[in-house]
Order: sequence, then structure tokens, then C-alpha cells
Amino acid sequence: MAGPEDAGPVPAGGPEAGGVPVPAGGVPVPAGGVPVPAGGVPVPAGGVPVPAGGPGIRRWYAELAWLGRGEVRTGVLIEASGNFFRAVTPDVPPEAVPPGTERRPGLTLPGLANAHSHAFHRALRGITEAGEGTFWTWRERMYQVAGRLSPDSYLALARAVYAEMALAGVTCVGEFHYLHHGPGGSPYPDPNEMGRSLIQAAAGAGLRITLLDTCYLTGGLAPDGTPEPLSPVQQRFSDGDAARWADRLAALGPDERGMLAPHARAGVAIHSVRAVPPAQMHPVIDWSHRLGAPLHAHLSEQPAENEACLAAYGATPARVLEDAGALGPRSTMVHATHLTRHDIELLGGSRTCVCLCPSTEAFLADGIGPAGALAAAGSPLTVGSDSHAVIDLLDEARRVELDERLASGRRGRFGAVALAEAATVAGHTCLGWPQAGEIVPGALADLVTVRLDSPRLAGAAAATILESVIFAGSAADVTDVVTSGRDVVRDGRHLLVPDVPAALTSALRPLLA
Ligand SMILES: [Zn+2]
Repeated sequence: MAGPEDAGPVPAGGPEAGGVPVPAGGVPVPAGGVPVPAGGVPVPAGGVPVPAGGPGIRRWYAELAWLGRGEVRTGVLIEASGNFFRAVTPDVPPEAVPPGTERRPGLTLPGLANAHSHAFHRALRGITEAGEGTFWTWRERMYQVAGRLSPDSYLALARAVYAEMALAGVTCVGEFHYLHHGPGGSPYPDPNEMGRSLIQAAAGAGLRITLLDTCYLTGGLAPDGTPEPLSPVQQRFSDGDAARWADRLAALGPDERGMLAPHARAGVAIHSVRAVPPAQMHPVIDWSHRLGAPLHAHLSEQPAENEACLAAYGATPARVLEDAGALGPRSTMVHATHLTRHDIELLGGSRTCVCLCPSTEAFLADGIGPAGALAAAGSPLTVGSDSHAVIDLLDEARRVELDERLASGRRGRFGAVALAEAATVAGHTCLGWPQAGEIVPGALADLVTVRLDSPRLAGAAAATILESVIFAGSAADVTDVVTSGRDVVRDGRHLLVPDVPAALTSALRPLLA
């Protein structure tokens, strides 16, 4: 398969990458997350004191921890130095815990990755549930919101939405970003102003971000396959052609490993076969090669997309993307709902990742994708909250299995470990952060603690505690979140955005007026 992984050598890690370990497989490792002050001791902006333990050393003692693979362990002593874990020791008796160690009752998980987000879609939550409609009528409402956003209002909205994600245990977001330009498609003085608002929003909310800079050129495909012109709102999405899309991405200033800031890396995206003609896909794929960057695309969310693509190109969307060289282990196809058997073989055989967005797919009446067949064919699965009808990654993960049950009439295709992996290590990897999503030495120090004394989880059996959290837990059960070694949520409070509901309300009100 001519996928991005075939693009020759990837940039090396090693000393120039700050000594960050390079995982097997040679995936380029960006520098760590939120920076640590010169003194070495991470001091959260919220002013929470850091326990003693040596310069830059923090320790947590997790009553129960799922470390990213395998079984839940008890009495886990976790040590971090700066942004990274340096030691993880299960079965430590309480009396052996060093003084100053933070206690973590409940179940501690690696950071959750929200692999597919459009931050501004959060404005439509609830509103589109009144009355009837389809994906296409929802899209008209979404365009109305897109038409009203400015760099400042986008910053305020995205920061509040990302803060909501942090409260839900998300430590990294993949923002599929296509709202590039001002009204009528006029570039802002800095043509990347909207993207920079998103990067700033993530920093303000304490998340890492992969900015999936999206190429979006045509208004769609008519049922007979004819390209449609951009609507007035869609003009804000388009750079005109892929060469100018590439010029704008270059001006965003990624380094040779695609890093934009310590907490932000660049990725690239082909919006869909509806919005990017095959002849315009190559500059996007080339940028994925050059930066070792993730390449994402929407794929076969709707039957009408497949029919128009067949009329236009005589091939399914998966086949069109395969022919362009867009599939491979560094690529992620989002939704992948309406696939042929051959499409599934193309995705699985090329080890292309698939990001399922089960809540959005249900809210928009998209359909149920072939998750079990995709996994069996070889595609890693990840999850995203996409339109943010809800933001709850535990819910997204369990819906993967529940949808499979509804479609197949059988239970147990995806167990709790597989679902937790989709929401953690697989999600971070598909966003270009393969050194995150597990609680192991050398990984970015992300911790998410879920309380077990809530009405939802009280009385859960120890032997099946991961099953209880994945299948019955909720974003509301997340109490503490550490991202890249830094406290972001403590006791259910966001330390950087003290009143998240108020931030959401003030950001949303002008957009909905
Ligand atoms: Zn999307």
C-alpha cells in the first residue's frame, strides 16, 4: 500500500527530541507537553502546591490503576519527573508509600484522547434535537454557527469546550479544523489566526492538541457526481487549491517534527471526497510525509456521499483515498460507517486507523459502522465526540460495543480492555502522540481518576472494576486529571477555567442570539 508510512525515514528522536524515548516502529516523538519551569518543579497555574519528592519529582499512589494494557492493578505507586512518568510500581503496601505522595482513591486510567473534534459544533447541542431532520439539515444549522465565528469568539468557545473535555478526563484533542478564513473567504491578516485560536484555547484549558489542518476546496458532489460550488459559508473553509492550503500550513510554522508548541502538534486532513478532488489530495499527503504527521479524513459517513463518489469517480470513497495514497498506519478515517467488504479490506490491510464517533453517528442518524469487521481486518479503533452532542469518552467507548450488539445480536465483541485502549493509547497514537496513553515509564504523565463512590459505580465488584467504569461510568465521575505532569482537574474542579459552565454560557450566548 502506498501509505504515508512508506514515505521513507522518519525524523529521529534522541537528544534533539529532549531525550524522549522513541517507541518501537520509529514513530517520531514530539517534545513533551506543558513546559516545566526552570527550577524543574511543575507549578500549576491554579496555584496548587506540589508535594515534595525531589526536584521535579511527583508521586501518586493509586488505589486501583489500569495502566493502559492488561489487568487493573492495586496499590500502584506512580512517579513522574517533569512531563514524563519515570517509575510505575504495582502492589506497593500502603505502609511503604513515601511521605508526600498524593493518594488517589478510585480507579486511575491513562489520559483519554478525543480523536475527532469540531469545537464549534458544541453550539448546536440540544438545539438540533427539536423536531425532525437528517445529517444534511443538521449541517445547515452548523453552517449558521460557522458563519458567526471570529478568532476571538472561537478562542472563547474552544477554550470552554476543551475545559469541558478536561473535566471529562480528556488530555489530548484532535481538532479537525477547517474554519480557516473570514466571512466570504477573506484571509485574516494572519491567515492562520483561527488555528492559532484553537492552539491557544487548548493551552488555556490544559490539553494537548493535534491541530488537524483541513483541506476543503469544493462545496460537495451532486448526486450525479458533478462538483458543486462553495456556498457562502463554505468559502470560509477553502484556500482555493491544495497548493495554497500547503502554503498556509507552512506559515503556521511547524518544526521538522510537526510541533507547533510544547502542547501542540500539526496534523493534516482531507475533509472528505466531497470537499477535495483526488487530484488535489497529494499536497496534503506530502505534508503528512514531510512532518511525520497524522493524516485524517471523513469517510463514508452517509450513503449519499458514497453514491455521489461512485458517480464522480467510479469508486467508493475508501478506494479513491487508497488510490491517492492516503491510507496507511499514520492515517485515520473518521466514521467509516457505510463500507463495502472491499473497503474494509483496504482499511484493515493498510492498518489504517478508524475513529468511530458513536454518539454523533447516533444523534445525526448516520448509521452503525462495521467496527467488529474493521478491527478483525486490522484497523486500530479510536473514538471521538465529533459534534459534541455529548462529551463523554467513556460513553463513546461503550457505544462501540453497544452498537455492535445492536447490529449483530451478540454481546462481547469488544471487552472493556479493548474499549479502554481505543479511548487512550490508540487515540493518542492516531493523533501523533504515541508516547501518551499508557501509565508506563517514559510515557507522558497523564492520569485520569474515576471515583467509585458515585451512584453509578457504588458497589462495583473489584474483579470487574474496569468493566463497571467503561460500561456504567460517566464523565461526571472523573475527579482528577493530570496532563503532561501538570494538574488540570482536582476534586472535579478545573484549575485553569474555574467556572466551566459560565465560560460555556458566555461563549455560546452571542453565537445563538
Ligand atoms: Zn467530523
